[in-house]
Amino acid sequence: MEKNYRAELTGVFGDPVDGNPTGVMEEAAYEALNLNFRYITMKVTPDDFPDAMRAVRALHMKGVNLTMPHKITVLPYLDELSEAARIIGAVNTVVVREDGTLFGENTDGKGFVEALGHEGEKPEGRVITILGAGGAARAIAVECALGGAARINIINRTISKAEELAKLIRKETPAQAEAFGWETGVKVPEGTDILINATSIGFAPESQWRPDIDYDTVTKGMVVSDVVFNPVSTLFLQETAARGAKTISGLGMLACQGARNFTLWTGCEAPLKVMEDKLREEFES
Ligand code: NDP
Repeated sequence: MEKNYRAELTGVFGDPVDGNPTGVMEEAAYEALNLNFRYITMKVTPDDFPDAMRAVRALHMKGVNLTMPHKITVLPYLDELSEAARIIGAVNTVVVREDGTLFGENTDGKGFVEALGHEGEKPEGRVITILGAGGAARAIAVECALGGAARINIINRTISKAEELAKLIRKETPAQAEAFGWETGVKVPEGTDILINATSIGFAPESQWRPDIDYDTVTKGMVVSDVVFNPVSTLFLQETAARGAKTISGLGMLACQGARNFTLWTGCEAPLKVMEDKLREEFES
């Protein structure tokens, strides 16, 4: 039989992209399953984006991840979107299907809900408070609302963005939603079951920062999660754990969304533990 020296290509387009850790976990997963796949981290500027999307087809890639600033600009290049990606209005994963058409998915929110599930928690029937109204917050809010959350509270520094997201949730999902401005020491709204930091506050090297909320309004047994994955144990998680919260790190979300990408591209079940261990090793080194 003729040998096949050709590798299947996947990767990420972004700018800046140098510090993106997705490649290390995807490559570890390919290696663990002995798949002849590669994941390449590629700098693509907005001006070069149309050429890069042509290259996805020309190089017969299996798919790509998109990060800043391409998650929205990619939409006109896609043939079909998942329901969540359509509502969120942003795509972080493109799959090149057998017939050459491009499918867009947003795995950020799904990764969050799945990571929650691994800790025995789910959005169904819950009151969820999200700090932030950017891309990560939007993906998490939409996916939690589609997953049956009763109510989504959005607290954001720029209130107009929180209002826009709350309006989107009310229009496109059965969940209730309300927007709040972010004053110094903002209180966590009463009745919150799950509190999420979906801002970049606390990301290394600025790990001495934590979202400016009234930590005494974090109640015992509240589920608290962070999208920041480096450090794995953020100051936000430490402060809320000290008030008796059950904390879930952003590393699980990152690994779960990476695992979804892996399955979309390879058709194989992802070795989630290999991916999580690789990320932890990376951030602890
Ligand atoms: P965006 O730039 O889209 O949004 C940033 C959000 O953070 C905005 O709501 C912004 O408020 C708020 N914010 C930033 N700085 C401050 C501050 N000093 N005080 C108050 N609010 C602030 O970023 P993304 O949503 O794409 O990413 C957010 C974080 O999520 C990043 O750290 C990213 O790495 C992480 N992430 C993690 C993932 C994971 O798998 N764990 C997946 C995706 C993202 P305003 O609107 O007022 O500017």
